[in-house]
Amino acid sequence: MKFTELGIIKPILNALIQEGYVEPTPIQERAIPILLDGKDMIGSAQTGTGKTAAFAIPILQKLSLERLNRPIEKKLRTLVLTPTRELAIQIKDSFRIYGKELSIKCVVVYGGVGQKLQTDALLKKPEILVATPGRLLDLYGQGFLDFSGLDYFVLDEADRMLDMGFIHDVRRIIRLLPTKRQTMLFSATMPKDIRELAASILIDPIRIMVTPVETTVEAIDQQVYYVRKHDKIKLLLEILKDSRIVSALIFTRTKYQANKVAKELMANGIDADAIHGNKSQTARQLALGHFKQKKIRALVATDIAARGLDIEELSHVINYDLPEVPETYIHRIGRTGRAGLSGSAISFCGEEEVGLLFDIEQHIGQAIPEVKDHPFRAIFSPEVKHKVTITQTQDLPKHPVVNIFSPRGRKGGGSRRYR
Ligand code: AMP
Repeated sequence: MKFTELGIIKPILNALIQEGYVEPTPIQERAIPILLDGKDMIGSAQTGTGKTAAFAIPILQKLSLERLNRPIEKKLRTLVLTPTRELAIQIKDSFRIYGKELSIKCVVVYGGVGQKLQTDALLKKPEILVATPGRLLDLYGQGFLDFSGLDYFVLDEADRMLDMGFIHDVRRIIRLLPTKRQTMLFSATMPKDIRELAASILIDPIRIMVTPVETTVEAIDQQVYYVRKHDKIKLLLEILKDSRIVSALIFTRTKYQANKVAKELMANGIDADAIHGNKSQTARQLALGHFKQKKIRALVATDIAARGLDIEELSHVINYDLPEVPETYIHRIGRTGRAGLSGSAISFCGEEEVGLLFDIEQHIGQAIPEVKDHPFRAIFSPEVKHKVTITQTQDLPKHPVVNIFSPRGRKGGGSRRYR
């Protein structure tokens, strides 16, 4: 299935091509036609399945086509509610990426920061608003929002809204919206409260379920290495000395890093290539082909580029950088250990990443064992929650002593390391 077969308009198709998307993910394939058709939808899908594009593409397309038939009204037309600031920012970025050839304004609002920039942006009358519930209600209370022109409403990660205690805010917000609208609800799980909520806010919805990542994380051998940022490449080379690592998919956060790591590996005699959004489709296919045929041992990828890669028999996934979103961790490591094969996931955790590691451990409900016996082991002391600095500055060449303190407010998961 190709994006063109879904009836997507040229400006959006162009943006998708530039992003390096080759074909729709299962949820996109199913949801896009339904949503373009104006139906309500309920999707059981978690982050990592491509669900953002599944709703963002049809919304952008509809807003764009509607302009042809009616005068442009400067009114808020779409509301996307999502539980966290990180998700809100990601969703806003997605709308901007897919809509880069359309002039449809998208604004994001979330709590925990000053509101001036957000209210200034709202005064410019965006057509799309991505928001977390608390800040949205706050701004509504202050008269910054008018939902009278709203046609599209997305409730994202509904089960997390429930877990985070936002469900009452969500219900209050829904009561403020016009009843005549198209509603899309996404939730990784469908507990009773969400089913009840769905029944009360969706009209005749079409249900779509996408299978979650096939592998359970328990089946994968996971390890974490504490390492300073500048030592990561040396650690990677050290680890790859192990000939049992037949093929490794290495994840970096940025395209630049992906290139840099692949280059370093090659300079050190390890056959490697990088795939990311800046590479042509042909170059990516070629690199992937070489990796699958075991002509190269390491493939360095960004999350976007690796999305949808179907690589069988992958022995190792290495998180050179930890992902920002815990679900992405599951998605990444789910590429190893498939179909009963034994898989290993190795993660590097730098000083700025301890918070991310903690979030991942909470998410997967288990602590990831640390590998202590390596020459680049680092010692971090979290100053405040999610903000970490190195306390011990003397550069010990081998096996420095561990001294890791408990970040404020943390419990569970990583207790083995945090005192
Ligand atoms: P989401 O589940 O919406 O958080 O998306 C997960 C990741 O997949 C994001 O990094 C998207 O940019 C990427 N993505 C979404 N759809 C596609 C696609 N059809 N092809 C390649 N990557 C995609």
